[in-house]
Amino acid sequence: MDQKSRNELKARLEFYRELGIESFYRRSPAPKSDLRPAPTATNEAMATQPPQPTDPGANPEIVRAVIQIPKPIMPPQKLNLFEPAEPSAAPRENETLEQIREDLGDCQRCRLAKTRKTIVFGQGNPKAELVFVGEGPGADEDEQGLPFVGRAGKLLNRMIEYAGMKREEVYICNIVKCRPPMNRVPEKDEIEACSPFLFRQIAAIKPRLVCCLGAPAVRTLLGIKEGITKIRGQFYDFAGTKAIATVHPAYILRNAREEHILREDFEKIRDFLKRK
Ligand code: URA
Repeated sequence: MDQKSRNELKARLEFYRELGIESFYRRSPAPKSDLRPAPTATNEAMATQPPQPTDPGANPEIVRAVIQIPKPIMPPQKLNLFEPAEPSAAPRENETLEQIREDLGDCQRCRLAKTRKTIVFGQGNPKAELVFVGEGPGADEDEQGLPFVGRAGKLLNRMIEYAGMKREEVYICNIVKCRPPMNRVPEKDEIEACSPFLFRQIAAIKPRLVCCLGAPAVRTLLGIKEGITKIRGQFYDFAGTKAIATVHPAYILRNAREEHILREDFEKIRDFLKRK
């Protein structure tokens, strides 16, 4: 392997390590058409400071602007993570979820299309004040075509109710709409192909608050690379609206003693939404 490839591989591994991913399996290389453009000057310029937590009370006026794709922090080597897969994927003013779904079509934009059963677009209130963004569909979601309907979903439902809401009131979606094989974490180019549709969904819903469930959602929406346990429970600016980060419910299923983390963060969500 030449030095340049070595450096690129090292950068990629460090990036995944920051997300808490330590092990990998091997698959055959993606076809050429799946390759994304090389990092651009614009993206290099984006490699600045992480979004700082904000005080949600300081600015109660939520700007209901069309959401621009946020400026993410790049990993140190400035990999180009968020270049929209196609120019048409940019948010448009006043589009509806139905129009976005129609645009998505029988999506074949990334390799996940080959192994999915169903596209899991998202579910819930198109005018929700609160949008949850998870990582990607699992087996149950892939079967049913709905997000968070498995064990993690049951816990999420319980937390939504704990915060005084009903599942039907909120909107739930993921950073990728197709199940990654073996429930692995979505890869860079898969997120890159799919996230423009997520940004458009959020722009169409215009929620007051977006809740990122787990590190991949935090990284995709907020560009924050710090560990989730460090940055959770704080409010951030996400392209004119507010966002909060918390741990993924699946993490709590594996670490039941930590459920208090989710409860604390959902109390903050409840308190934020109470403030009109
Ligand atoms: N985990 C996720 O991140 N999303 C789902 O839809 C289900 C489980």
